[in-house]
Amino acid sequence: MKNDEKKGSLMNTASKQQEIVTACRVLEYAGQADMVWGHVSVRDDQGRGVWLKGSNLGFDEVQESDVILLSWEGEILEGTAGRHVEYPIHLEIMKVRPDVNAVVHTHPLYSIAFAATGWPLMALSHEACHFVPPDIARFLKTGDLIRTPDLGSDLALCLGDRNAVLIPHHGIVTVGSDLGKAVAAATHLERACQIALLAGEGAQPSPDEEALQKRERSDRHLSMAWNYLARTVPKSLN
Ligand SMILES: [Zn+2]
Repeated sequence: MKNDEKKGSLMNTASKQQEIVTACRVLEYAGQADMVWGHVSVRDDQGRGVWLKGSNLGFDEVQESDVILLSWEGEILEGTAGRHVEYPIHLEIMKVRPDVNAVVHTHPLYSIAFAATGWPLMALSHEACHFVPPDIARFLKTGDLIRTPDLGSDLALCLGDRNAVLIPHHGIVTVGSDLGKAVAAATHLERACQIALLAGEGAQPSPDEEALQKRERSDRHLSMAWNYLARTVPKSLN
């Protein structure tokens, strides 16, 4: 086992509630907090549904007791916290993506600004190669909240088999085989969008072949990023 994997494996023993709290702290540190909006989820190991951060709490203040378990119909099975109105994002994606065990939805500044330009996301940095080519998916049906199972299902369809989707005028959704990869994808997507805005419309991307070569290392890279953040960020916020 490589050194970084050994350190990161400490997170493997965390409960779903602990994982979600750590993910929230990482997203806060990464600048993806938007007061009490934005949420993360993980699939229940016993197939009962999805563990979701409770509503009306910031990423910086949510505690393990504020995490709820939702059934596949959206009923609260465990926990006393409120349910985010956009809970269908999590349920509908995980219903159709058995490979996805975690979903992140945030409203990050650069991603929202970039999505509003309508420009394609290009392979301008290492981060962008986790998502493109081809161009990133965009959910264009509405920029309003994803409040219903139908809208959640449409969003899942738009995401397809990919790891991220931009929702112009609203935010982003990233997914992963574990919560760490979904969180790292969110931080990488935000940085890719920031770089795209800095570079401007005429920027030149990596050739597709080079970008796709980088993509082959994506899984390991995202895990390494999460392991680093999970080790260091909560301490810096305590
Ligand atoms: Zn939202």
